[in-house]
Amino acid sequence: MSEFERELQSRLASIRAQGLYRELRRVHSSQGPRIEIGGKTLLNFSSNDYLGLSNHPVLKEAAIKAVEKFGAGIGASRLICGSLAPHHDLEESLTRFKGTEAALSFSSGYAAAIGTICALLGKDDIIVVDKLVHACIVDAARLCGAKIRIFAHNDLNELEDILKWAAGKSRITHHALRTLIVTESVFSMDGDHAPLREILALKEKYGAWLMVDEAHATGLYGPNRRGLAEHLGVSDGIEIQMGTLGKALGASGGCICGSRALVDLLINRARSFIFSTAPVPAAAAAATAAVNLVQSEEGRALSDKLWVRVQELQSALGFRPSALPSAIIPLILGEESAAVAAAARLREQGLFVPAIRYPTVARGAARLRVTLTATHTLENVKALSLALRQFDHRPSAIGD
Ligand SMILES: *Cc1c(COP(=O)(O)O)cnc(C)c1O
Repeated sequence: MSEFERELQSRLASIRAQGLYRELRRVHSSQGPRIEIGGKTLLNFSSNDYLGLSNHPVLKEAAIKAVEKFGAGIGASRLICGSLAPHHDLEESLTRFKGTEAALSFSSGYAAAIGTICALLGKDDIIVVDKLVHACIVDAARLCGAKIRIFAHNDLNELEDILKWAAGKSRITHHALRTLIVTESVFSMDGDHAPLREILALKEKYGAWLMVDEAHATGLYGPNRRGLAEHLGVSDGIEIQMGTLGKALGASGGCICGSRALVDLLINRARSFIFSTAPVPAAAAAATAAVNLVQSEEGRALSDKLWVRVQELQSALGFRPSALPSAIIPLILGEESAAVAAAARLREQGLFVPAIRYPTVARGAARLRVTLTATHTLENVKALSLALRQFDHRPSAIGD
């Protein structure tokens, strides 16, 4: 064995010893309330396809038409010869959907976060993030070189202390440091919500900028399903609205919505946008169809149905019904090995619920992460709640 291989084997052994080893599972079906894994059909409670749009005939038709007209691939980045009509259609739809001046699509939400944060901040700036933000924001914060300050999850007092400190630093250095606050609106592993109104008030008080990642809210909240910011009536105060096209929107890609100047700057400075082949036409066309669909009566009916399922599960598990629901329902088990064993047991019983462990969540906060979708039935929810009773769990560690 070469030294390289020996080194990798020893690292893998250490990952295994900590109960953190991960491996891929081959899925033989499309996404849906049932998926086929390893020759077995399982009830699926793990997908972020919250409205079931990934298999919606309107999205599939849009993707097929785009392939027929524009081909399967692109062969260039947006700034060379890859800025196709489907990308522009998508960005115009996103602009209307979000009610912003402009929008820019990326190949993924991850690429949107990295490209945007690094385009906006440098080493003289400050980035202030919630403790539980997604890995793509953590990575972007590190990569951009700004000073990183982390506030405890949804802790407005700590956020204000940091903003005060940042404002004081500007006074000492005699030049205004740019300070960017980044939070999610619905947190991906806990399903709880950020107090966006209060965060907005603080960012205005201290002259900071605000970026909100709506990955788990786009398509689900607000009168037009724009996201939690719309539901709370704070969209206009947020400089940078980020979303993904791959979750409730059922397609693939990421997006940033905001001012014309923001989008123009990103086209010129976001390296993950500039130096990467454009998303395939099928993805852009499917996302456009999804953006239009979520705003329709059908979109409203689908999100209403999702909230009914969430309420049914919460009441079956004896959880307090949330005033503001989310499709993500974590059951905290604690030990990594307990979560992995519980997920394996559920798979034997025909239910697919993923175990989420470090480094996705903190050590000792391992959990089963249940996600519900509008395509689940009441019977599906009943089967799940019955099976979950065998475990000793608590609702989210941090409540909602
Ligand atoms: C999934 C996710 C992303 C990344 O989006 P992709 O389109 O999957 O790359 C970003 N932020 C949050 C909170 C997410 O859950």
